[in-house]
Amino acid sequence: MGCQITGKIKRSLKAAAFVALFGVAAMMAAKPFVHFGESNQPLDSAPPVYVDHEAERLALAPVPTSDSELEEQAGRPVERQVQVTSGDTLGDVLTRAGIDGSEATQAIEALRRVFNPRSLKAGQKVQVTFDRSPHGFGHGDFQKVSLNADPVREVFAVRGANGDFTGSETKRQVSRQIARYAGQIRSSLFESAQTAGVPIPVVMAMIKALSYDVDFQRDIQAGDGFEVMFEGYYDTKGKLVRTGEMLFASVSLSGKPIAMYRFETDGGSVEYFNEKGESIKKALLKTPVDGAKISSGFGLRNHPILGFTKMHKGVDFAVPVGTPIQAAGDGTVEMAGFNGAYGNYVRIRHGSGYATAYAHMSRIAQGLHPGRRVTQGQIVGFVGSTGRSTGPHLHYEVLAGHNQINPLSVKMPTNTKLAGRELDRFKTARRDTETLLAKIAPSTRITVASGSKPGSLTN
Ligand SMILES: [Zn+2]
Repeated sequence: MGCQITGKIKRSLKAAAFVALFGVAAMMAAKPFVHFGESNQPLDSAPPVYVDHEAERLALAPVPTSDSELEEQAGRPVERQVQVTSGDTLGDVLTRAGIDGSEATQAIEALRRVFNPRSLKAGQKVQVTFDRSPHGFGHGDFQKVSLNADPVREVFAVRGANGDFTGSETKRQVSRQIARYAGQIRSSLFESAQTAGVPIPVVMAMIKALSYDVDFQRDIQAGDGFEVMFEGYYDTKGKLVRTGEMLFASVSLSGKPIAMYRFETDGGSVEYFNEKGESIKKALLKTPVDGAKISSGFGLRNHPILGFTKMHKGVDFAVPVGTPIQAAGDGTVEMAGFNGAYGNYVRIRHGSGYATAYAHMSRIAQGLHPGRRVTQGQIVGFVGSTGRSTGPHLHYEVLAGHNQINPLSVKMPTNTKLAGRELDRFKTARRDTETLLAKIAPSTRITVASGSKPGSLTN
């Protein structure tokens, strides 16, 4: 006992000494010459985010040995990379990189010829180049600013011999290719497709398109198959620069195939149709949350995730707290608020004579009041565990009149069915797609004619 107390005193003395030392160090580190009032940067602003490439390179580079090497290094420009943070203008970014206001304005004006500074996005990286400093520290004159306007286009403003900036751009050499992947679903479609090499934007497009027909919690079983064909833009090294259109996707659920073909209608809209020329879009989504978030679709033995029974008049989706919940269809909000065992609850009345209800939300979307119109896919709230709930999940109900019915048994009619000449045109497009599917081996791709239109199947 006594020992323990002595130990405690010793420890607290040590801690006090440490605090004192730390305090002195902190005071020494503080810069008394910084006058906060003069700084035009708000005190709570984030510290500048930039990577000094030159400093990093120098730190890693071997020490130069000869005079010529030293000279060569002294002549090399100083490069800095600054990351755009939320709310930044290009001017803010350049100021943070150490460029003075009037020079930044000149460079931005020149850049405007090839780039709209308003399209700058948080996370984007901007490179700035300075001359090497004549004094050996810091940097000399500002020479160049460059950034990737999109995956294939680099834009820049460079100072010319007369001191003025000129805006210009370079384009990366890319080719449009069509890739095909096929595989088996092991854990979830999201994970299996991604593991097979399907780029995430394509996996997301696939899941979104399938959400009208597939209950991602209950319909997918281990061993079910998937197939997808999409266009991608690849650089000369074969690296995917950007994904294009998803041309075809299918899943085979317990042997039952669901296929969808991309088709441009006479009205000019691009939609997905099944092999019969029926739009995949239905009045109600079968999965009213992002299917990518449902990670164990068939782990039902371990998951208390229920389907529709006499005792449980809805279906549950196991997704993390905060996952956005989408309105299953167009409609009008009938109820939005706390509703006993249902917790935070929203009910939407749809034109088709059905209503849908969403329960246990952590939060209802802002401004969602009874009487408000909502469109299919609109976020109505976020997954939680409010009310009588054993864990985070979405409890989802479909009501016919005022009675809950089994959502799995509801056969929704399709929105559009192609007919006549348009259907004939679709059948030709479908055959072209099938020819391509047969031609491209899984996990490979073919190059398409450079002049062909995105989404077209000519090659
Ligand atoms: Zn439930």
